Amino acid sequence: MLQLRPNCECCNKDLPPDSTEARICSFECTFCATCVDTVLKGVCPNCGGEFVPRPRRPANKLTKNPPSTERVYKPAGCGRAA
Ligand SMILES: [Zn+2]
Ligand SMILES: [Zn+2]
Repeated sequence: MLQLRPNCECCNKDLPPDSTEARICSFECTFCATCVDTVLKGVCPNCGGEFVPRPRRPANKLTKNPPSTERVYKPAGCGRAA
């Protein structure tokens, strides 16, 4: 199950489970669409992998399968793709 992390690692923007702006890599590094397009150029700075739009979890599934509340924020790592 996806963690559905609550924010962008790069700019700390909130990315709620129903956000259409959330992008994830295969390791679930999570960023907003703006950072992926402008700062990261589509390459994950943590693993070098590609991003895909994060699927939205239906609201009626969120009660039993809540999104992660643990914020991952690494501004120092953003934009320096491996
Ligand atoms: Zn961002
Ligand atoms: Zn990654």
